[in-house]
Amino acid sequence: MAAVASDHENGVLMHDVIISGGGPTGMMLAAELRLHGVDVLVLERDAEPSPAVRSLGLHPRSIEILDQRGILDRFSAEGTQYPGATGHFAGIVPQRPAPLDTAHDYILGLPQPVTDRLLTERAVELGAELRRGSGLVGLEQDDDGVAVELDDGERLRARWLIGCDGGRSTVRKILGIGFPGEPAQTEWILGEIKLTLPSDEVAAIADEVRKTHRGFGIGPVSDGFFRAVAPADAPADERLATPTIEEFRVRLERFAGTDFGAHSPRWLSRFTDATRLAERYRVGRVLIAGDAAHVHPPLGGQGLNLGIQDAFNLGWKLAAELAGWAPADLLDTYATERRPVADDVLTLTRAQSVLLSPDPGPQAVRRLFSELMRFDDVARFLGERIASTGIRYDVGGPGAAVDSGSDEGSLLGRRLHDLPLADGGRLFILLHEGRGLLLDQTGTHNVTGWADRVDRIATTTPELAAPAVLLRPDGHVVWLADGREPLEPALQRWFGEPTRSGEAVRRPARG
Ligand SMILES: Cc1cc2nc3c(=O)[nH]c(=O)nc-3n(C[C@H](O)[C@H](O)[C@H](O)COP(=O)(O)OP(=O)(O)OC[C@H]3O[C@@H](n4cnc5c(N)ncnc54)[C@H](O)[C@@H]3O)c2cc1C
Repeated sequence: MAAVASDHENGVLMHDVIISGGGPTGMMLAAELRLHGVDVLVLERDAEPSPAVRSLGLHPRSIEILDQRGILDRFSAEGTQYPGATGHFAGIVPQRPAPLDTAHDYILGLPQPVTDRLLTERAVELGAELRRGSGLVGLEQDDDGVAVELDDGERLRARWLIGCDGGRSTVRKILGIGFPGEPAQTEWILGEIKLTLPSDEVAAIADEVRKTHRGFGIGPVSDGFFRAVAPADAPADERLATPTIEEFRVRLERFAGTDFGAHSPRWLSRFTDATRLAERYRVGRVLIAGDAAHVHPPLGGQGLNLGIQDAFNLGWKLAAELAGWAPADLLDTYATERRPVADDVLTLTRAQSVLLSPDPGPQAVRRLFSELMRFDDVARFLGERIASTGIRYDVGGPGAAVDSGSDEGSLLGRRLHDLPLADGGRLFILLHEGRGLLLDQTGTHNVTGWADRVDRIATTTPELAAPAVLLRPDGHVVWLADGREPLEPALQRWFGEPTRSGEAVRRPARG
């Protein structure tokens, strides 16, 4: 798809959306917006992609999302499947990982630079413009748009600006959004290095050190490199500075009594256990997503997954706003839905941090927790939380009010997992274009008036108990044919007013 031309406003180039930050959140969002023809410019401060392998993989809900957009194959081709791997919590592995309600019950092991590259390729092939070596340093907004200032003094304008610029987000800081939580207590250096010590000696020392220091680790990766991580006593004064190999050797020596002969780093980076959640996700025409909105230690490996899922939630809503059909509060549901999810992830990482403490109290809780994990229900409960397959949004309407909390089995507000269809196809293929979908097993419902936004499929599936369901573009169920509510109010609540002809009419109004 070719990039659409941007408008000009008073002689200044006017983009629909500028995204600050070309990490996984920013590139996922850019792709989602391009799917709907939105003109997107991504500003990325770094001239080159980072080689640092932070995230090691994708969780079931993120894998489903890629499947829903028809791009899972390219990720699977470069990754490794680890079945049942979402079942562990703070390193406690259940005896029998409870199977999750998904066709993708595995972690897809994929180094972050590969994930980042594949998401970037997808966004760019859909027509997103990526400007590397271009950092946002200022912004000002008015009723019609946002003016953005770059580090070389250039000024750009967009109708919307999204800060996907990581934990130290410039956008969040300029907006003055509070970022309460716990400051960093510990800082780690992580990197891939070569060692002069033989592998068996490295393994023996690592086993010994980890008996008392769970925050330490060292093990082989590829091409003769080892991945190593070592904590410091306290966060360094200058956390922005890239660590040096000398600094890393001192840390290794302090914990392991040897620096393993570390040399020739492929890359080195720092991270901390700071845990914070933005007070707001939106100020006027500027929103934040991913690490810009929430940071936490990497326990459970959820940060990148959370960012991709933020972007997936936000993309179609912002596109609807720009297309002019979004109901009044649709865009605000991004924050009301996603902020509690991030809050929950922070709870999970805080709990895991406690369980990893060597102190006697937390160790007693850890022993108890290990026993609890023998119960399938407990293992499934935690597995679903980490996999993000159990998320239920409050989607409004009479059905939601009745269902919320009391009926765990109800589909309303949840994402529908993939289903085989009577015609030999499957549900997720019908979601590739990012449109709404009415799955009608009765043949009696219709989407006349919304056909430019919502597809209708009359087919049956043996795995769906409901006679008909309405799905948002992110695959969450917003209506069920269970007699509680007619279809039309739900269509209006999520897809706006009907067009008279029901044909593909795009209103000129743009956000
Ligand atoms: C050691 C470690 C292990 C981890 N493991 C996992 C894991 O297994 N699973 C998982 O899901 N997550 C994991 N994470 C978390 C994951 O790496 C992050 O959550 C994820 O990268 C966040 O993506 P993002 O796009 O929101 O932010 P980032 O990846 O931080 O990307 C932000 C981008 O914005 C750019 N930028 C910053 N400021 C500006 C500016 N002013 N103008 C323009 N561009 C700017 C940056 O250069 C960067 O490219 C781990 C993190 C660490 C530290």
